[in-house]
Amino acid sequence: MIVGAGFAGSVLAERLKSIGKKVLIVEKRSHAGGNCYDYHDTNGVLIHKYGPHYFRTDYDVVRDYLSKFTEWHPVEYRVKACVNGRLFTIPINRETLNDFFNENLKTEREAEEFLSFKKLKIDLPKNAEEQVLSLAGKEIYDAFFKNYTLKQWGVDPKCLCASVTARIPIRTNRDDRYFTSKFQAIPKHGYHALFSNLLENIPILLNTRFESIKDYIQYDKLIYTGLIDEFFNYKFGELPYRSLKFKFEQYNKEFYQKWSQINYPNDYDFTRIVEIKHVTGQNINKTTIVKECPCSEGEPYYPIPVDKNYELYKKYKAEAEKLENIYFIGRLAQYEYLNMDEVVKRALELFEVLKNE
Ligand code: FAD
Ligand code: UDP
Repeated sequence: MIVGAGFAGSVLAERLKSIGKKVLIVEKRSHAGGNCYDYHDTNGVLIHKYGPHYFRTDYDVVRDYLSKFTEWHPVEYRVKACVNGRLFTIPINRETLNDFFNENLKTEREAEEFLSFKKLKIDLPKNAEEQVLSLAGKEIYDAFFKNYTLKQWGVDPKCLCASVTARIPIRTNRDDRYFTSKFQAIPKHGYHALFSNLLENIPILLNTRFESIKDYIQYDKLIYTGLIDEFFNYKFGELPYRSLKFKFEQYNKEFYQKWSQINYPNDYDFTRIVEIKHVTGQNINKTTIVKECPCSEGEPYYPIPVDKNYELYKKYKAEAEKLENIYFIGRLAQYEYLNMDEVVKRALELFEVLKNE
């Protein structure tokens, strides 16, 4: 029995079926794919229902495995940040430094030297604010990170783990790609097509919460990819999550903006405007954008990386470890800010364990 048809649940279902196991997936939503799900909207534009999903990986094993279920559309993701009405390259690179500080830094060395006067001396950054201050200093932090982070998480960046802002490098070269992973591409025909291939001939009960059927179905092993605190009836209290409201807008023109993603750290109640068509490469003369407004109520999209939340999670994890034949995996069940490729890798690793049991 597998709870959840996101990457964690679907990869395990496919792998277990491949060795002759009988699997059943229960999924509370009306579709498979978890948060990666995409679909064609009323204008025929392929959109990502739960925010932009930029696939990238350095794990060959993940790329090779998924390549059995999809062809790829190679793409390099590029993002801009709008500060004081001007667009700057993000992650911060030499171009951003030149534009923002009105400098003319020509080499990496010059940029490094420039930053060495800006950055604060912090040996081991303890939080999301110190992380940026230690690499780029206060002006960059205030303009690009402080308010975005506050808006995104609803928590003072001083209280968030350094790993949050460490996701975004500070560069001294001119590389303007959002990621440097060696494989960057999205499924050529969309995530929904990838998941249909992955789940071919695997029974799945959609619109069904695990809780509503668990007493009626027998299983030898349970793979659970939902909320770990919900599984244990919140006995230690609720784990906090950050949610998002997605506001889609359709336009009768080819493109709305020049880039797939523009971040608005200091203005509006949304953090970013994404026009995924730049990424999917779809050839259509209409377009759809989405504005992402962070909020505390709603679907649990992001585990909030704060030490006290991890302390609470550890209590649930300890309970989970006492259970036999029940496996907790994925972004919700492991309460971790995981990217798709990491989840697929963990699912493949768990399969190896299960296979040998
Ligand atoms: P999920 O995709 O969340 O799947 C879990 C499934 O379980 C869901 O379908 C849910 O409905 C179901 N479920 C939960 N509880 C129950 C229950 N009780 N009964 C039945 N079903 C249940 N990653 C990247 O690599 N690149 C990106 O660009 C990227 N962008 C993202 C943008 C946003 C806005 C978000 C929220 C995430 C993003 N991610 C990105 C992360 C990516 O979504 C996750 O890594 C991935 O979806 C995790 O897969 P999963 O199977 O663990 O969880
Ligand atoms: N961030 C920021 N300004 C930006 C982009 C990112 O402050 O212009 C910070 C913010 O705290 C964000 C984190 O870096 O939550 C990680 O950014 P990423 O783009 O990886 O977020 P995700 O796509 O996972 O929401």
